[in-house]
Parts: sequence; C-alpha cells; structure tokens
Amino acid sequence: MMQSEFSYKNPKTLLNKGTGYLSGYTHSLNPYTGCSFGCSYCYVRQMPVSLFRKGEWGTWVDIKLDAAELLRKELRKAKAKGKVTIFMSSSTDPYQPIEYKERVTRSHLEVMVEDPPDFLLVQTRSPLVRRDIDLLLRLGDRVRVSMTVETDLEGIRKVFTPAAPPINARFKTLELLKEAGVPTQATIAPVLPSSEDFPKKLKPLVSRVCVDDYFMGDGSGGKRTKKLGVRTLYDQLGLEEWYEPSAYRLVVDRLKQVFPEEQIYLSQQGFEP
Ligand code: SF4
Repeated sequence: MMQSEFSYKNPKTLLNKGTGYLSGYTHSLNPYTGCSFGCSYCYVRQMPVSLFRKGEWGTWVDIKLDAAELLRKELRKAKAKGKVTIFMSSSTDPYQPIEYKERVTRSHLEVMVEDPPDFLLVQTRSPLVRRDIDLLLRLGDRVRVSMTVETDLEGIRKVFTPAAPPINARFKTLELLKEAGVPTQATIAPVLPSSEDFPKKLKPLVSRVCVDDYFMGDGSGGKRTKKLGVRTLYDQLGLEEWYEPSAYRLVVDRLKQVFPEEQIYLSQQGFEP
C-alpha cells in the first residue's frame, strides 16, 4: 500500500458552491484535501488540486485545521441566506483512514447536529462511518449516507482500488446503518464488473440504489477517465466489455429483477438531496 504524507493546513473556506454535477446542492464540503484511498479511476486526479501537486494522487492528504469553528460560521451565514444542502464529500473520502485519529469529519457532524442544514449527503466507501452513527441519527431524515459499492467482487475491487476498504466491510456497514435507522443508499459508481448475484446481496441492506459510470458521471462524458488510462485494467482482466457506455445497463437490468424500479436511481439523480 502507498504511504501517505500528511500535513496540516488552515482552510480559507469550507463550504464551496455546489456546481456542475452537484448543482442540486447549495454546497460541497471536503474535510480533507487529497485522499489516501487513491482509487485508479478517481477523476480528482485530473483536477487542479491534484495536477499542481508533486506527489501522486493518493500519496498526500492535507488535514484541515480548526475546521469546526470555520464551518460553524460559514453554516450560520449560509443558512441566513436560505436553504442549505451539503454534499460531503466531492473530492475526498470523509472517512479515509486518517479520520480515525483526526476526527475532522466528526467535528463537522457535531457542528451540523447543533445547527442542521436542510440536507446532508455523506458520500463514502469506508466502514469508519459507523463510528458516527450517534451523530447521524441526530440529523434524522436530513441526512443520507451513500456508500460506494462499485462491485460485489473483492478480486475486482483489489485491481481498481487496492487501498480502499474490502467490499464485505461495506456491506456490513450498510447493515449496521440500516439497523440503527440511518437513511442510506448503495452507490454502484463507477460501475465495475460485478456478479449476477450482486443485486441479491444488496437487497436486504438497502431500499435505494444509485448507478453511475464514467460516461455519465465523470463530468466530461468519459474523457477525464480516458486520460487516466483505466481502460488498461479492463484489458488486462479481459473484461473490455465492461468498459463500454452500455455496460451499466446490464447492472440496471439485473437490479430490476430484484428491486422495484422506483428504488433504482441513475447517475446525478441518485445523488440529489
Ligand atoms: S475514495 Fe473517492 S476521492 Fe478518494 S481516491 Fe477514491 S474516488 Fe477519489
């Protein structure tokens, strides 16, 4: 596994305007800059935040200092202007391993429990989110945890995202969130090669599934992903047919055999507040 380099930074702002893919949100919130999961297909690699750094994406993380205080102020201001809907996070995973120790994300939730936004989407692929069930519950139906589960096949996960948490741990976390009563969804994004049984494994865990792929979801019709060279991984696996704009349909069709249609969401729609 890659070793990450950590530094502490004082952020100037925390709540950024929701734009593009996130235009359904008033704001996005990233407790960290950088992400030690370093997924092969992560489109943030192609963004200025990554391109202007020396270290490769996945090898560095900036920890935001005194972030709770700043968020408290920004949230108060934003709420005075109107509705506030927050997507956390768009260019990092709020529950990457350093969060065990640093608790920046937890401090954000504490602020939001005191002064709740209209809606918060927590986007993660990490089982660590279970630590914060106490706070998530206090947000009631103003929160939804969206757990990325791109495939049910651990072997595939290891090829595309070797530093990310195992798939079974994510299934387990969805189960725990459900038992606790936290609103959730499983997010198959980007669609990776998966088994026919994938929907059956999800069925007892969630009543909402979002499907997205490189072509609908990377903000550039797949061009950003192309530049990352992810296709090579499909070629190596002999699974080229999964790197096609139509591949997601197979997954959606399989889901439809198990889930009612109204529980299946496509791309941007699945992330809306
Ligand atoms: S977890 Fe998300 S932000 Fe982090 S590297 Fe993977 S895709 Fe990118």
